[in-house]
Amino acid sequence: MDSDCIFCKIVAGELPCTRVYEDDDVLAFMDIGPIIKGHTLVIPKVHVDPLTSVPDELLATLIRIVRKIAGAQMKGLEADGINITQANGRVAGQVVPHLHFHVIPRFENDGHSWNWNARPYDSPDEMEGLASRIRSGLPMEI
Ligand code: 5GP
Ligand code: ZN
Repeated sequence: MDSDCIFCKIVAGELPCTRVYEDDDVLAFMDIGPIIKGHTLVIPKVHVDPLTSVPDELLATLIRIVRKIAGAQMKGLEADGINITQANGRVAGQVVPHLHFHVIPRFENDGHSWNWNARPYDSPDEMEGLASRIRSGLPMEI
């Protein structure tokens, strides 16, 4: 537990939350500032951040629960669709530095739109150059 972390405090019961699901490793609870009502957070109970530092097995557990919550929103809330988002770093909009997945129910005409501004590459070479740099960052074994 990180004593400065609000999500660790929620896990420890030192701060309240509205629980949706809990097991030994994972807690899902309602986001206090929903983008769409029903917006749920899925977090590991251990303090871990960012995504790149999570052990594979825990990540597999988390994403399995994310999918269950998404299904539960579709069934229980009659959501028409779901967005899953996950931010790493302040520059990416992360405010709470404890790994969390946002599971956001979407409804026809819910009024929300992502500000997704596509910015094309200047040339195919530029795109290939960036792909090459990403490939060079991949581990030898995946
Ligand atoms: P981030 O911007 O880090 O990806 O998302 C953090 C999320 O945590 C935000 O959507 C915010 O509304 C939510 N949040 C922050 N503090 C609390 C809290 O004390 N309780 C709950 N339930 N959600 C919180
Ligand atoms: Zn934490």
